[in-house]
Amino acid sequence: MYDVIIVGAGPAGLTAALYTGRSRLKTLILEKMAVGGRILLTETVDNYPGFPGGIGSSELTGRMHEQVQKLDDVEIRAQEVLELECGAKKVRTDSAEYAAQSLIIATGAYPRKLNVPGEEMLTGRGVSYCATCDAPFFKEKNIIVVGGGNSVAEEALYLSRYARRVTIVHRRDELRASPLLQEELRREPKISFLLSRVVTAIHGGQRVEAVTTREVSTKEEVKVACDGVFIFIGYEPDTNLVRNKLHLDDGGFIITDRTMGTSQKGVFACGDCCQKTLFQVVTACAEGAQAADSAYKYLSTKGQQ
Ligand code: NAP
Repeated sequence: MYDVIIVGAGPAGLTAALYTGRSRLKTLILEKMAVGGRILLTETVDNYPGFPGGIGSSELTGRMHEQVQKLDDVEIRAQEVLELECGAKKVRTDSAEYAAQSLIIATGAYPRKLNVPGEEMLTGRGVSYCATCDAPFFKEKNIIVVGGGNSVAEEALYLSRYARRVTIVHRRDELRASPLLQEELRREPKISFLLSRVVTAIHGGQRVEAVTTREVSTKEEVKVACDGVFIFIGYEPDTNLVRNKLHLDDGGFIITDRTMGTSQKGVFACGDCCQKTLFQVVTACAEGAQAADSAYKYLSTKGQQ
């Protein structure tokens, strides 16, 4: 029996463990993929306080991991949670069952798909959701990048180090990326824009060969030759485990109160799986700390409730 089980070892889950461990709560973190979470899909974190020149995402999360590993009361296991009982606080993974007195859900989010013909078939064959992972395969190639937020801007800049040409396709006539990033984009001669256009199909056989783009108002369609398509159109919360068990918003994000408490007593949530307006490493860490403190207070007063 653990005091706390944390599901997910991204910045939110690792920070939660740092705080539960330092409160001497017997803590188990379960992670199905790599410790570090989705931020590992990004090369550098430029806006985490204390690192004026930015810091590599793997270095930042590696340091968080190291800090947690030093705590006697925290265990990290590489197991996928398949079932979660919020009331009984029981967790079944691909290889074991665990019980705790409280749960912290820090399952994060995964890249949203365009859901157009060709996307699924050509994923891994020119269609990608991770520039850091795949950019070196696109040296001197022509790449289409889809989206208009901070991710698209950062990833297009990263891809331009390798590619011959990077074309950003965005459905509106302006990006929503931060002004600073937009200035950087416009300074990079390899980057150009196809605005007010959507990608309606991805074509290819063994590899991506072209996309069809459609102008939003005129509906005019143009086929554009390319070697790769990188898609950065936001994220979907990884909350299937708690669907119909916790209150979620229409997008599937977990609704929390200001203590990171969910609709179920003793179950807390933090990070990108939660409903919020600012998805950053720094907010994920802050929520992790808050969720851990709330779990500690819940366990300290449990007998009195
Ligand atoms: P985002 O900010 O939600 O932007 C998603 C973009 O994709 C939007 O421009 C949206 O268009 C477009 N889009 C959504 N669905 C689409 C569809 N079906 N077809 C075509 N386009 C579609 O997502 P993000 O850029 O991945 O960022 C996610 C969060 O992480 C944000 O909160 C962001 O600020 C944060 N982030 C921060 C940094 C940083 O601070 N350095 C870096 C990366 C990400 P519309 O604009 O028309 O809605």
